[in-house]
Amino acid sequence: MRIIMVSGGEYGKRVVNTVAEHGFASSMVAVFEYPDETPEFLDDPSSLVPESVSDADLTVAAGLRGDLNLVAAEIAAKSGAESLIIESHTPTQLPDGLKNEIKSMFRGRIAFPVPFCSLEPSGDRYIDEFAERLGRPLLEIRSGARIGSVRVKRSAPCGSTFYIADELSGSAPEDAEILAGEKLHNYPCLASMDTDPGFGDTHLHIAGYLTREAVKRATGIPGAHGVVDPEVCQGYECGFLCRDVCPLVRLSHDTVTMGEHAVIDPFSCGACGRCVKECPYGAIELIEGQDYRS
Ligand code: SF4
Ligand code: SF4
Repeated sequence: MRIIMVSGGEYGKRVVNTVAEHGFASSMVAVFEYPDETPEFLDDPSSLVPESVSDADLTVAAGLRGDLNLVAAEIAAKSGAESLIIESHTPTQLPDGLKNEIKSMFRGRIAFPVPFCSLEPSGDRYIDEFAERLGRPLLEIRSGARIGSVRVKRSAPCGSTFYIADELSGSAPEDAEILAGEKLHNYPCLASMDTDPGFGDTHLHIAGYLTREAVKRATGIPGAHGVVDPEVCQGYECGFLCRDVCPLVRLSHDTVTMGEHAVIDPFSCGACGRCVKECPYGAIELIEGQDYRS
């Protein structure tokens, strides 16, 4: 696979480094970097497209604001790429109107992960080859009383998962989820603290939920999470309001499912508490995790 990277600012640099250092160095045929100060609105985005663009299969755009994303799409089209990934990690980085413009000018397959660490394989050959290694964090942890080894099966594209994995070794498995959340902040995660109306939450928090979920699943310990009391839940009366407000459901995850009553998946639940506040019957509480390994 031949990859062109189009990057902006500190976040873009991090992604380029992670892509280069973790499996795709020989695949990168070009890197185009744009300064952070590039205006959000460009009179003529085409003027920023390089004269010469190598042939490629996939273009990955990271850290670009506003119309620079159009430049990335033009680069992708000029390279003959079949696939394009354009991430955003702030709510205003890529408005819907701009997404539609990009869709009309690039005819191949496009993924718009929000945030980038939510990317998963989705059926496109080149996007999936990338997303097998970089996207939604996935870990393998071997532990007894202490964590022995942590293998990164898939890292967040900014590289934070590798950093966190190093920090987890030697810690108690039951502390690993909280430690992972702290280390994501220390890295630091550059996702925005502004609330995205689509999620009702910030991209920084979403990144934290996804990182902690990877740790919870790998240790088998779900940590704090919401629990629905089936005796109290009246889902068909309320219309499953808890599902509507869950930021992870809005990210298309099955964190809250509907049956005779609502059920919360303890591993993907980020313990944000929104559903607890929303439930009109008081059917949900947040509890500390149980050790699910035994
Ligand atoms: S909001 Fe409360 S009553 Fe409604 S489905 Fe969720 S848990 Fe059940
Ligand atoms: S606490 Fe409720 S709203 Fe928040 S992530 Fe968990 S299930 Fe979703």
